[in-house]
Amino acid sequence: MFQSKERRRERLREMVFPETWKQLLRDRIPWYRRLPLGDREELHGHMHVLLAEKHFEGIGGIEVTEGMKLIICAHAALLLLHRETDYFPKLISILIYPEAYAAKTLSRDERGVLLETIEARAGESWTSGTLILAWGDVERDLGSIPATRSVILHEFAHQLDAGSGVMNGAPILSDRKLQHEWPDALSEAYERLLQAARQHEPSLLRPYGAKNPPEFFAVATEAFFLYPVQLKQGEADLYSALCHYFKQDPASW
Ligand SMILES: [Zn+2]
Repeated sequence: MFQSKERRRERLREMVFPETWKQLLRDRIPWYRRLPLGDREELHGHMHVLLAEKHFEGIGGIEVTEGMKLIICAHAALLLLHRETDYFPKLISILIYPEAYAAKTLSRDERGVLLETIEARAGESWTSGTLILAWGDVERDLGSIPATRSVILHEFAHQLDAGSGVMNGAPILSDRKLQHEWPDALSEAYERLLQAARQHEPSLLRPYGAKNPPEFFAVATEAFFLYPVQLKQGEADLYSALCHYFKQDPASW
């Protein structure tokens, strides 16, 4: 069973990646233009597997185009480069909404009173096999210069995190050195972001990452791939831990 899945993926990875697809990625995704050639080849192979294995569905009247699937899979595949991967095994479906959608959340205030609030969300990642993206936000992310956020990288980072069984900001860490460095590097940078967010000070990472450790990991992943040079300068330990984890050094691209 496992072998046949591997063989099928091997064949998918070897499929030709059409020139028109490469052109689309070059036109739409700034980081793709910087990606070293060898990495691009590997990315294309992973994309073939993701395109074949994941289910895409448009919600609210949006038609899922080939371009949308390519943009989504390119970002997802970027998180898998240079590592052994099972291609986000818990993820089955990617649902695409036209715009940020309203989601009900329940929370308790300081007195313990249950509050129901409606939040506009650009994306969501569930451990139950579904990932949701608002296409309007994806477009805004791709169009903003300099790029500071990516809802796609963010939600797929949650999927990696969930790969450890629980979404807690600590994805499966393979090597010992990393297991040792990870908690310190992440928790210190998290504390700094928390501090900045409390005092409404500007921060290198998006303040949303101060919400909790899973959000911190997702926001740090966005920064790592979108503005690696600044992250390396401003949060060297965090950057180095992410380099070890992703086995990539985007600041060198
Ligand atoms: Zn999130």
